[in-house]
Amino acid sequence: MKQIFTFPLGQLQANCYLLVSDGKALVIDPGGPPQAVLHKLTELGAELETVLLTHTHFDHMLGVPALLREGVRLLVPEKDAVGLTDGQYNLTSLWGMGFLPPLHADRLLREGDTVTCGEFRLTTWHTPGHTAGCSCYLTDSALFSGDTLFEGSYGRVDLPGGDPAAMQRSLARLMELPRPLTVYPGHGGAFVF
Ligand SMILES: [Zn+2]
Repeated sequence: MKQIFTFPLGQLQANCYLLVSDGKALVIDPGGPPQAVLHKLTELGAELETVLLTHTHFDHMLGVPALLREGVRLLVPEKDAVGLTDGQYNLTSLWGMGFLPPLHADRLLREGDTVTCGEFRLTTWHTPGHTAGCSCYLTDSALFSGDTLFEGSYGRVDLPGGDPAAMQRSLARLMELPRPLTVYPGHGGAFVF
């Protein structure tokens, strides 16, 4: 069995996704205090194995330190690893929102890399534009799109690492994915694309 739960977290209510399968759990983009996520893990008796980031903006990772512990690994797109320690890149120093201790990735992800959790198998799509390394993760007919693709719009490209031309190329690639596809964006509700 595969389950997906959504928790808008933090001041910017970024969507945190909890994937659970066979008693194993993976969390995508915990952007604020993750108490609700921890409660759900306890309720389900699921073991958290992986915290996965679509990119390293603070509103997608302020909750990471509260989830990391022995046996939990942090997976980050390779070209966004800079944001784990750079307050300019992750916007904490620019916007002054939240404190983030320096983080360390256990694994850096590139295009095509896969991440598994129980029966879930996610494939990394490197989709730069919003940031230099931001990535989407595809599993079955679901796409976790971070701040790359929203319903009817896409992420801003004027922040550190942003690139309008790269965003156009990334969106063009996503348009070629087999449909229908359920998109789970970084902000706002899921939608069928
Ligand atoms: Zn962002």
